[in-house]
Amino acid sequence: MTCEKFEKELATLKKFFPLYCGDKHRPTDVRHFDIFYQDKKYSFELPLCAECAELLAYSFERLKACPYDEKPKCRTCAKPCYNKTQWKQVAAVMRYSGTKTKLLEIRDFFSLNT
Ligand SMILES: [Zn+2]
Repeated sequence: MTCEKFEKELATLKKFFPLYCGDKHRPTDVRHFDIFYQDKKYSFELPLCAECAELLAYSFERLKACPYDEKPKCRTCAKPCYNKTQWKQVAAVMRYSGTKTKLLEIRDFFSLNT
């Protein structure tokens, strides 16, 4: 996939993991990540517990290896690349944070309009 598409996927993971971990595990550490994709390097820091940091690193590796030009939804992918255990954990993160993001958007929408 192109770097732009990769960055978009990266942004979702970067946003969703700390949302989930912050609520569920109350991490005290900040983790540093260096992600290399094509000729670019993405460096950032996120507050995550050890377990979520590991799961996120695994997700980045899967994303980097995704053979599709436009990443399909993992749920509908013809060749799912996650192993089952990690997949279940990541699915829980996505579900939780996806819902929370929507709720926050709705809240912001109403607070802007009142
Ligand atoms: Zn965590």
